Amino acid sequence: MMKQQRYVCSKCGRRIKYIRTKNKKLIPVDFDPVPFWRNENEKGRIITASGTTMFCDLEGAPNTETGFGYMTHFATCPAAQRARRDAV
Ligand SMILES: [Zn+2]
Repeated sequence: MMKQQRYVCSKCGRRIKYIRTKNKKLIPVDFDPVPFWRNENEKGRIITASGTTMFCDLEGAPNTETGFGYMTHFATCPAAQRARRDAV
């Protein structure tokens, strides 16, 4: 049986995984990939499984997506959002 390493966010307990980006940084991302539509004018960012960061839309016409990628967990972590709000 293959052993898969499991990671969970220490703040919110959600399942995450790590992707190594092109500049050798390990980034925590949401475990499940999401479809994205590449768009250089958008602020949304996604990291592909190969570690490339792309600007993109996260919504678009079905079946026209550029591919699937991962949201950084910094952007989606409910605990991190709470911390940001508290800091204001
Ligand atoms: Zn989290």
